Amino acid sequence: MIKPDRVVSTTCPYCGVGCNLMLHIKDDHIFKVTSPFDAPVNHGNLCVKGRFGYDYVYHPKRVTVPLVRRYLLEGKPKPKGREQVFAVSKDGQPVEHSKISNLWDWVETDWDTALDLVVDNLARIYKRDGSDAMAVYCCAKATNEDNYLLQKMFRAVFRTNNVDHCTRLCHAGSVVALQQAVGSSAMSNTAGQVIQNDVFIVTGSNTSENHPIIALQMKEAVQKHGAKMIVVDPRRIDLVDMAELWLPLKPGTNVPVFSAMAHVIVKENLVNHEFIANRTEGYGEFVESLEKFTPEYAEELSGVPADDIRKAARMYAGAKNGAIYWGMGISQLSHGTASALALIHLAFLTGHVGREGTGLNPLRGQNNVQGASDMGSMPFHYPGYMRVDNEENAAKWEKAWNIETGGLSRKLGLTTTEILSHAHEGGIRALYIMGENPMMSEPNLNETRKHMQQLEFLVSQDIFINESGAFADVFLPATPFSEKDGTFSNTDRRVQRVRAAHPPRGQARPDWKIICDLAKRLESKLGLVSAYWDYSHPEEVLREMGSVNSDYAGITYKRIDKVGLIYPVPDMNHPGTPTLFTESFPRGRGKFHTLDYVPVREEVDDEYPFILTTGRLLEHWHGGTMTRNSSLNEAYPEARVEIHPADAEIHGIRNGDPVKVQSRRGEIVVRATVTEKTTIGVVFLPWHFAEAAANLLTNDALDPQAKIPEFKACAVQIFPARKRDLAHPEVVLDRGRY
Ligand code: SF4
Repeated sequence: MIKPDRVVSTTCPYCGVGCNLMLHIKDDHIFKVTSPFDAPVNHGNLCVKGRFGYDYVYHPKRVTVPLVRRYLLEGKPKPKGREQVFAVSKDGQPVEHSKISNLWDWVETDWDTALDLVVDNLARIYKRDGSDAMAVYCCAKATNEDNYLLQKMFRAVFRTNNVDHCTRLCHAGSVVALQQAVGSSAMSNTAGQVIQNDVFIVTGSNTSENHPIIALQMKEAVQKHGAKMIVVDPRRIDLVDMAELWLPLKPGTNVPVFSAMAHVIVKENLVNHEFIANRTEGYGEFVESLEKFTPEYAEELSGVPADDIRKAARMYAGAKNGAIYWGMGISQLSHGTASALALIHLAFLTGHVGREGTGLNPLRGQNNVQGASDMGSMPFHYPGYMRVDNEENAAKWEKAWNIETGGLSRKLGLTTTEILSHAHEGGIRALYIMGENPMMSEPNLNETRKHMQQLEFLVSQDIFINESGAFADVFLPATPFSEKDGTFSNTDRRVQRVRAAHPPRGQARPDWKIICDLAKRLESKLGLVSAYWDYSHPEEVLREMGSVNSDYAGITYKRIDKVGLIYPVPDMNHPGTPTLFTESFPRGRGKFHTLDYVPVREEVDDEYPFILTTGRLLEHWHGGTMTRNSSLNEAYPEARVEIHPADAEIHGIRNGDPVKVQSRRGEIVVRATVTEKTTIGVVFLPWHFAEAAANLLTNDALDPQAKIPEFKACAVQIFPARKRDLAHPEVVLDRGRY
């Protein structure tokens, strides 16, 4: 048995559950991960990612030295005409590499050279084209401190709000709906409170694969505490086995199904009149708008039997403590905001919010997507969700950052998807990406590729050269979670410590240090007064942010040392706030909205007869930058499309057969899994596999308010393919010779 040199307590870098990890270190390597039974979030349980998914830290492909393209080092113009090829090669060799100029080669360099090249090019573009030409993707995997500093740099130095991150692509619909309805966008209760529910709805969330430890708690609520679970999902997800009721709706029909439940609750007088009178507004108009949403109308649109909709409505309304947990099946639609509002209405009608064991709970995906949003990594908000177009807010941050009065931009910035679609002459010219991978996460990747090629200057700050880093001009090697200090904020709003367990590999540096170094050089180059970047430790960064954002005002590293604190924590004596909205909502009264049914943008037809829906797998995470470079990739090495046996039979497809999946935007070849997990007419693809990227097929139609793309529904066709056309698992990434 190996005896560790030390065991370091930290927080899992994968999903928003935020499990505590104990990293067992020998010779500066992690060799085992455990978790203690008294860990407040996960009680000693870990899923396969937290337990085994750490070895990407040591993967040979990890880049630990700064890289710049040869043309930059040689002071030559950026060569034109380069095709960024993501070709499949059977023998692992780059495709048509000879056609690529060697000026695109990566050259290893020192930090000063790399940072100076970044400074020179960003400053040149900023001086020539101004703030609107600059944009940044912050990172839902990086710490709060990293994200706070990166948005600060772009706002304080480049005076732009073109700041966003992948929250736009996962829960933007939920965030906008919650802001409109209650004035706050985080989960209202903690996930652990599920054991206090007597009825709960799980919708648009394959919780067992996306938030496995929360799924365990849901199962415990049913098995040990007698709670009743209602699953509303197009797929027969694992939780259906324990559900009292499963409503298998057609993708994109959330609004009619949940509005029909509201219809039943109102018609059968199951409403909580006291809550509606005291805590909400807009009820009268809302009730009128419900008239058309009969269960029969919803059945026609969604395929869910009207009687099951009635049963679900009665169960939820009749609960003492009811709660709703939802995932991206609600928000990743061109009407994602309306879908989330339809859920929020159910809680308002029944008063199932503002008490322990109730709540409105959008399960946040990435480990720190909640924190990155809290830190202002968004185009409309400073840290603490303060609107950038509000004078009072801007003045507060100008004071905190030593910026002249009126210096910060009041103009709303561009969202992630808009940043890339504005990448052209006269639009975005320089993009800085910390840790994100738009070439996997954006919809309609063939279009995204064209946008990436339009950028004049791209910086990638990451641990691997991923599909997006392949387009970069400079690569800055950052550290993963086990090589830096900081904090993550989980889906419960619990702020927890991240601790460096071993020194950085090679020349890699923590993100926060890279940003501070760069910001100082930029200020000097542009002749700006310093906004202060001389932090000696990330805790100072969190304290600076907390001095303006009252939610984090009472959080210190000492106070969160063992179990974290659940914000809001408005002062140093405050114990944290597991349950929100106990007295009132941040906007005062909860607001009902009238809704209409709007179909998904691309409905099926004779040519494209299947609805494609996309999502995650237990073994992988998002664009795969981490899990596909870990041993988890051996457990699930290739993409598969799930198809119902009835559909498979009609199309002559057997389990394991290669099939081509084609939409109006692209095509991929993968093996089929014939399974009743999916419903007739619906096929499912995971989005982790670059060689068979689901987002080559998805639709880039946006929700008009939240600007979230419609990842959850587009029309595709499927037909048998040849084995030799299967995508090779070893993608040849044309990143230049490195
Ligand atoms: Fe990590 Fe999420 Fe798994 Fe917990 S449930 S170990 S936080 S991936």
